[in-house]
Amino acid sequence: MQAIVSPFNSMPSSRYIVTPESLIRQEILALNAYHVPPAIGMVKLDAMENPYLLPPQLRCEIAQLVAEAEINRYPDAGAHHLKAEIRKITSLPAGMEILLGNGSDEIIQLLALAVAKPEAVLLSVEPSFVMYKMIAAFVGMKYVGVPLAEDFSLDLQATLNAIKLENPALVFLAYPNNPTGNLFDADAIKQIIEATPGLVVVDEAYYAFASDSFIPYLSDYKNLLVMRTFSKLGMAGLRMGFLAGAKAWLEQLEKLRLPYNVGVLPQLVAAQLLEYHDVLLDQAESIKQERTKLLAKLKTHDGVRAYPSEANFILFSVKKATLVFEGLKQRGVLIKNLNGGHPMLKDCLRVTVGTANENQKFITALQETIIQLAS
Ligand code: PMP
Repeated sequence: MQAIVSPFNSMPSSRYIVTPESLIRQEILALNAYHVPPAIGMVKLDAMENPYLLPPQLRCEIAQLVAEAEINRYPDAGAHHLKAEIRKITSLPAGMEILLGNGSDEIIQLLALAVAKPEAVLLSVEPSFVMYKMIAAFVGMKYVGVPLAEDFSLDLQATLNAIKLENPALVFLAYPNNPTGNLFDADAIKQIIEATPGLVVVDEAYYAFASDSFIPYLSDYKNLLVMRTFSKLGMAGLRMGFLAGAKAWLEQLEKLRLPYNVGVLPQLVAAQLLEYHDVLLDQAESIKQERTKLLAKLKTHDGVRAYPSEANFILFSVKKATLVFEGLKQRGVLIKNLNGGHPMLKDCLRVTVGTANENQKFITALQETIIQLAS
């Protein structure tokens, strides 16, 4: 039989004319890929990374561990050693289990995959972490985003109404919220957990910089899970997140987790770093102090409105935000442009808290840009 020539190139293909548009689900075709801008040589304040390097002695210990690692073997699929280290630094209520993800992004996907029955709803608030909505599309769930109040607090009544109407299988609440930086009212979250017919996941990606956590409430609510990542604590490159909750949930999710999702090196290095959790927490403390200074400096700028934060970033609004973002970029400072992403984020930019030196470079570049745009 004569093969039909694919429209892409001159290679013979199958006898069907197959194109991405004809084969791939409509909701995937409609997505924009998560954009990661190039950052080489920039003051990188766009992605909520910890700006500090590890102490030299700890880096040597890691080098030694990596040198001796058995990378010819598959990783420990149960990651027993790493999980034990996580337990040491996380006060989990009795009986709670841990599931590990290749970053917490992967855990969001696992959760969504597990509950994605036809018509199942994933609900979150807006603006919040964009991956909740994207992952709903990945797995074919209906996504419902309930707008926050104007001051970015939870609109409790609107959220409860939406829960009643939509019966969500899965609710995500980022605590503190990204990109607004605030902690929602804990009592409001409890009411949401009680009103939700499905699972509520409190996403504590920024726990190291925040003054509160839902981990102590895990045993109070059967439909509550708490998710954390070590990305913001200095391990973004390792890709390490975890979900904590009751065994009954986690053993189901374990079936969907690909057996070797966390590699030999990330397991080893993360476990070693967690032995020095106090070093990382000291770094988080410095970031919190820098956050206070940066917020104060931003607030002195006419025309800049900066929002308080319990995370390692600050949301602020400024006139001509996209031009300000570009002006900063031309001056070698990369932050995140949120203008145009969501109606409530009009004229908003988000800056990650860096070292004192990086923050000063950002402030100087911001001043120069604003003056230039005004002239
Ligand atoms: N949750 C929230 C609220 C986030 O802001 C992020 C990262 N920006 C994540 C989860 C994902 O983090 P990671 O995949 O690096 O663990």
